[in-house]
Amino acid sequence: MNIKEYFSSLFEGTHSLIKGMEVTGKELFTKKVTEQYPENRAELKIPERFRATLQFIYDEEGYHKCIACKTCERNCPNGTIQIITRMVDLPNGKKKMKLDKYMYDLGSCTFCGLCVSTCPTDAIEFSNDFEQAVFRREALLKQLNYLPEKEKPAPEPKPAPAPKLEAAKPAAQEPKPEPKVEEPKAEPKVEDSNDVQPNVEQKETE
Ligand code: SF4
Ligand code: SF4
Repeated sequence: MNIKEYFSSLFEGTHSLIKGMEVTGKELFTKKVTEQYPENRAELKIPERFRATLQFIYDEEGYHKCIACKTCERNCPNGTIQIITRMVDLPNGKKKMKLDKYMYDLGSCTFCGLCVSTCPTDAIEFSNDFEQAVFRREALLKQLNYLPEKEKPAPEPKPAPAPKLEAAKPAAQEPKPEPKVEEPKAEPKVEDSNDVQPNVEQKETE
């Protein structure tokens, strides 16, 4: 190494050192973002779209929208979901497959979101509740339909359709009474001329 190379590498090293110190010095005075967890649990803000665990969507009345179609189970790439179904008898005599248990293994979920995006009824979603630590691995296996199943009330029968207004049909004509055929009157009996009584006047002239 000659004298020129020596001073050149010295300059580069010093420049690199100053550059590094500049970055460190800047971070020294910027606002800290370290979360003091769990002390700050009350004011902790987790982004809404953070995928922490899968959950069922229940409405205020305790109904969910899962129709047990198993689309999510088929689309899950690593068998995290297991859907157990049962057959129920409907009031109309038909049978229907209903959800019995929706099992989800948080321990093997990769949070890819395929199950949520392919569900035809939007029955599941990701919760951002990140506090899912447990002591036993089996505890990560969860039944998502935790509320007792409620039967939806049968739909009210549809009102009978209003009768169609048909063009006024001519009233069925009653058969006219047949004209009475009068029986021919009995002709007066023509008495024998011999039986005719002589006229009174005739008698007087005699
Ligand atoms: S997020 Fe992905 S891995 Fe997790 S249950 Fe849904 S489909 Fe399976
Ligand atoms: S959660 Fe959705 S996709 Fe999965 S079984 Fe229920 S309705 Fe089907």
